[in-house]
Amino acid sequence: NPLQGAQFVLAAHRISQLPPDHGAEVAFAGRSNAGKSSALNALTGHRGLARTSKTPGRTQQMVAFSLPPKVQGEGLAPLQVRLIDLPGYGYAKVPPELREHWKQEIDGYLHQRQSLRGIVLIADIRHPLKDFDRMMLDFCFATQLPCHVLLTKADKLSRNQSAQALAALRKELVEGGTQATAQIFSSQTPTGVDEARDVVVRLLNT
Ligand code: GDP
Repeated sequence: NPLQGAQFVLAAHRISQLPPDHGAEVAFAGRSNAGKSSALNALTGHRGLARTSKTPGRTQQMVAFSLPPKVQGEGLAPLQVRLIDLPGYGYAKVPPELREHWKQEIDGYLHQRQSLRGIVLIADIRHPLKDFDRMMLDFCFATQLPCHVLLTKADKLSRNQSAQALAALRKELVEGGTQATAQIFSSQTPTGVDEARDVVVRLLNT
């Protein structure tokens, strides 16, 4: 597993507190309780890496995880590689000021971050895309940033229902003109973990 060895670096309340903007990183975004922490844990093979929670909206920080630096060749400094867990967003009980704070921080992060190679957007397969998800997709479309959608908790649906949900999302993505890709995922069964990991590794290598 090339994402194994991920380690907690820091939790930040502002972009300026994130690790220096060198190297390559992939950011994980999703509404609160979508299953983002569970996905990060499944992808890195590290059960306790991201804090999963039964209480939505608890994780209100940007969290940086480092991966083993990538050797680039003789005379070249190793490339710093990271995963960034963006704060869960969209949970009703989050106070409006805090919500506005994160909206601005995420927006700033997406616009400014040079090392950002792509977004993994986590969405519950049982629900249609919400405003937050569309905002992320619109942003990626506008900036040509690669976006890969994990339709997670697929174990909650039959195979047939999952396939239908994926087809509907792909249709929506194509009609929206985005280049975003999508797949079925479950951190529970697990399903689609290798596929998602390959996407993350490919993004980190671009
Ligand atoms: P986050 O808020 O997006 O980080 O979501 P968590 O990873 O903390 O998950 C929220 C809830 O959904 C927890 O109760 C998880 O156990 C559950 N969950 C997460 N992923 C899956 C999945 O793939 N299948 C099922 N059935 N439940 C999941």
